Amino acid sequence: MSVQALHKTMQIGLDGARRDAAHFINGEFTQGTTGKSWENRSPLDNSLIGRVPEGGRAEIDAAVTAAQAALDGPWGALTVGQRTDLLAAVADEITNRFDDFLAAECLDTGKPYGLASHIDIPRGAANFKMFADTVKNISTETFLLEQGGGRSALNYGLRRPKGVIAVISPWNLPLLLMTWKVGPALACGNTVVVKPSEETPLTATLLGEVMNKVGVPRGVYNVVHGLGPQSAGEFLTQHPGVNGITFTGETRTGEAIMRQAALGVRQVSFELGGKNPALVFADCDLDAAVEGTLRSAFSNCGQVCLGTERIYVERTIFDAFVARLKAGAEALKLGRPEDPATNLGPLVSQDHRDKVLSYYRLALEEGATLVTGGRVPDMPGELANGAWIAPTIWTGLKDDARVVNEEIFGPCCHIRPFDTEEEAVRLANSTPYGLAAAVWTQNLSRAHRVAARMEVGICWVNSWFLRDLRTAFGGAKQSGIGREGGLHSLEFYTELSNVCIQL
Ligand code: NAD
Repeated sequence: MSVQALHKTMQIGLDGARRDAAHFINGEFTQGTTGKSWENRSPLDNSLIGRVPEGGRAEIDAAVTAAQAALDGPWGALTVGQRTDLLAAVADEITNRFDDFLAAECLDTGKPYGLASHIDIPRGAANFKMFADTVKNISTETFLLEQGGGRSALNYGLRRPKGVIAVISPWNLPLLLMTWKVGPALACGNTVVVKPSEETPLTATLLGEVMNKVGVPRGVYNVVHGLGPQSAGEFLTQHPGVNGITFTGETRTGEAIMRQAALGVRQVSFELGGKNPALVFADCDLDAAVEGTLRSAFSNCGQVCLGTERIYVERTIFDAFVARLKAGAEALKLGRPEDPATNLGPLVSQDHRDKVLSYYRLALEEGATLVTGGRVPDMPGELANGAWIAPTIWTGLKDDARVVNEEIFGPCCHIRPFDTEEEAVRLANSTPYGLAAAVWTQNLSRAHRVAARMEVGICWVNSWFLRDLRTAFGGAKQSGIGREGGLHSLEFYTELSNVCIQL
């Protein structure tokens, strides 16, 4: 299918036939009042997908007001069963419109259909279904009978929705990461105002159609497009009507949002950047370690927060590992989303490619040995205008090199040998980030010992990206604040009050 044909499959927006994004406020699509918009361009070939309206204070005010009214009105009046049934219907409708969501996501990001149809879109539906089930099946909080000083009291906890939740999401897994927040927020009885990434506006817009179709009351789910600083993102996080902010994105943006959220002491839940290590011990299953590390370094063209950018390999198998990862990287096929042979799409935008390319140059300045890649690949025809980049592997950098310590968020990694387990642990923990790690070993004791010392939110052993949505997810150190997933999401999306009754 050509890019033009892909565009034609999209049915989105005000008149059901355009690819322009729209705000979705109080159940209605609107282009807003600012008169400002930007072009949404395909990273495949730089062709125009459509326009995106830039929301301002008026759109944020209208969305927050609608969200508050829904909370005080029809949404707040539903029973838990009615509410979670609606969210299960949202999940079903995403599945019914699978092809629309797939086309929208692949248009915005350029990622392969194979990837989005296995990960992004099913997870978009699962995020609603799983949190609906979680909340529906919670029983009451633990009752505590305390006796002291001859008095006894019955204590119990009450969980209430937090209120209006601001959702700020990134572009790498747009539907998956947005619904990872919207799903639990709504399941817990909150309402939301979403500010999607400016790079990827389509699936958030499309979800508005789903909400209307299944009968989610107006104002429960709102979307305002816009930029970050001094635009919709900042206005939303500073709005006095917002009760909590959940954000996924870069650590530096998290710092800015934290400052903005300080006004009014709004609570935050942050999933931030990473510079994730893989530790490959000589006693690993080498086939599995190479295959898993290849996926973790290059999937989604390296644009995965959990992806591996630092690989530490026990010296005795270093050369063999580097040779096999090089062969694996060179076999990856860059191409169109709809081609089943495609492994990697382009980066999300020309701007992001400029950033990743600046690190490719920096690596050489810092003394790296280029094992493979490091360049802009030759792409045929109109694809030559896209944001393509070659998968890249370096060795030979010093431990304090910027390329080894800063998140690049592209299809690239640095491999360094180690001699002892102690050294591997020290190197793995040596950055300010603490999102994820992967340990490859067949020694059970070593696996547990090393996993326990990883300063991260998630540590995989002999796997990568294996997730049970009921488990805690988040980052240690500068990779996040709080944990989401299953019951853990209740900590942020509800307020827990204690009721104490003297008996
Ligand atoms: P980003 O921080 O540039 O932008 C994320 C969102 O924040 C966008 O919607 C943007 O418009 C908005 N924003 C920017 N400045 C703002 C401000 N001052 N106020 C309010 N909103 C503002 O991130 P990105 O480039 O879209 O995404 C890539 C980053 O996300 C990487 O660092 C990656 O590691 C991280 N990420 C983390 C996880 C995780 O689970 N920890 C998951 C995916 C991505």
